Amino acid sequence: MKKDFEYSMSLVNGSIYHNGTFYLEDIYLSDQKITKIVPSGKTLPCKKIVDCTNKLVMPGFIDPHVHINLDLGEFKSSDDYESASRAAAFGGITTFIDFLEPIITVDEFDEKLQQKHKEAETSFIDYSFHTTVGNFEDDAEKLVKLSIDNGIPSIKLFTTYSESNRRCAYEKIREFIEISGLTDSLILIHTENDEIIINSNVEDQIAVYESSRPANAEIEEIDKLAKIVSELKGRIYFVHVTCGSSIDLLKEKYSELLQHNIFIESCPQYFYLTKEVYSTENGNLFLLAPPLRSIEEQEKLKKNIGIINTIGTDHAPFTKEEKLRYAKPSQVPKGLGSLEYSFSLMYNLFGESIIPKYTINPAVIHSLFPRKGIIQEGSDADLVIFDPKKQLIIDSGHSKSDYSPYEGSEIIGAVDSTILRGEFLVENGKFVATKRGMFIKRN
Ligand SMILES: [Zn+2]
Repeated sequence: MKKDFEYSMSLVNGSIYHNGTFYLEDIYLSDQKITKIVPSGKTLPCKKIVDCTNKLVMPGFIDPHVHINLDLGEFKSSDDYESASRAAAFGGITTFIDFLEPIITVDEFDEKLQQKHKEAETSFIDYSFHTTVGNFEDDAEKLVKLSIDNGIPSIKLFTTYSESNRRCAYEKIREFIEISGLTDSLILIHTENDEIIINSNVEDQIAVYESSRPANAEIEEIDKLAKIVSELKGRIYFVHVTCGSSIDLLKEKYSELLQHNIFIESCPQYFYLTKEVYSTENGNLFLLAPPLRSIEEQEKLKKNIGIINTIGTDHAPFTKEEKLRYAKPSQVPKGLGSLEYSFSLMYNLFGESIIPKYTINPAVIHSLFPRKGIIQEGSDADLVIFDPKKQLIIDSGHSKSDYSPYEGSEIIGAVDSTILRGEFLVENGKFVATKRGMFIKRN
């Protein structure tokens, strides 16, 4: 059959993001890829033309840290792949990375992987996974190799949660870090000192929840792990860093490792909310681990935004009823939903400087580059059309949870349209997806 047009779609007259700046260019798409980029005004034959005047056009955003169908026993997080990916698409996210359930031995890997592949079939956006280990008792090298062979070059581990057998022993952590340097893999670490948490002796009450997992637990543990990296090299990635002081410490003691061996992720909630909310009537609605911090730590975190590599959401929402069912924090499901408004929230605070933390940085660090995270010929046609002047009043959004921790906030900058591999998921604020996302092998 004869092709009528060489290009299936073009985005014209928009400001196109490359490398920290915007250019007036037109982008042409075909076969799910970006196939041509030309200066604005030079019209090529094309089936559908999308006018992007006064809009920013950016690479589809990547959220490297989400939890979908998170199973906590009595509670299961609100979003499945269908609802999470729909909410993500409204926020300009075209790829997210979820976590396999924690495993203790290598032979559990396959089952956990198949389970996630099954769950993810309903996703509207592209996706990948991180392998997760608990108190891992098996051959670390074998697991890393198996994981890489399945397109997953990242292992997540915990330094806390010994009570649920998820804490990984230091000897194993050292092994994983050493192997990461030899295999092009990445070790993601939930970094809180278990002893400090166990010995905190704080009452099981919402108002003092932050003191039960204090800032110090993060800062000390980050120091400990960075020291291991300074000996063994390797590549580690601190997930959901909450304290500006943690980053100050890394800059002072380990600056030569930053951007090479140590990568830092933080989340919108730590920039927008502080521990004061735990003393309010509905403090339960804001419970997550690690907790929200003091205003001082938040200020320091903002000052260190330049050092932070990526913004993930740690998306794990529950409903109001679930959050409010019990009074004691130990019984409340931990986690917040931030997927849909993540980029707009951070753009509102930091402007254009935030863009790399949603695009090229997560793409490079998590081995999605150059397929994802950049607007260039040959890359996937994952694109966000963003109105930098549009006012957005945050509501509960498209997640299955019935509230957002940011509800009522008024911010400037909103996603108009989201395109995944050449097709609209969201067009001018309407959900129009007709196809499903796919698993992206990251190697
Ligand atoms: Zn998480």
